[in-house]
Amino acid sequence: MNIIQTNPCAACTIDQDCCKHLSGLRLTQIEFNRCFKQHGDEIVVDREGPLFVVSQRDGAACPNWQEGGCAVYDVRPRECALFPQTLYVQQRGDAISIRVHSDTCCPLKAQLISSERVAEQIAREFAEEAFGENARIRVGYETAWQSLCRRIRQLVSRTLDTLLR
Ligand code: SF4
Ligand code: SF4
Repeated sequence: MNIIQTNPCAACTIDQDCCKHLSGLRLTQIEFNRCFKQHGDEIVVDREGPLFVVSQRDGAACPNWQEGGCAVYDVRPRECALFPQTLYVQQRGDAISIRVHSDTCCPLKAQLISSERVAEQIAREFAEEAFGENARIRVGYETAWQSLCRRIRQLVSRTLDTLLR
């Protein structure tokens, strides 16, 4: 199969923005080793507990973005496969809460979006691989109220970051 030609994002009307401006992609160690370890010189890697958070240096394209498509499409990280849904991860002690939401600006959302059941399954696999099968993991689709609270928290966090610089 030609991986690049099967990428539905080739029809993106915002010029495949996601892969061209890689920022804050969260990966399990297995996903990192599979798709990004070999690109160590081109990326910035932060850690959030067991998660690897990958951004491209200078806001450039994902190193896997080649010839107009994803070179690792069939084995791409789960956060890539989930998009336009994305994850909100909270860890309190050994309790992990993963919420899936589709609060993104993807123009192909209607075509690309997975069902809530499939998205939750992908999110659960991600969490179990990252935190271990014995972690207390709760996965669910974000409610409107949770979405509002998340946005407020993110706004406060961004404002504090700006003020403290
Ligand atoms: S996921 Fe949506 S926004 Fe991202 S590149 Fe594909 S079509 Fe564009
Ligand atoms: S791994 Fe593939 S799908 Fe994910 S950001 Fe990179 S190019 Fe895009």
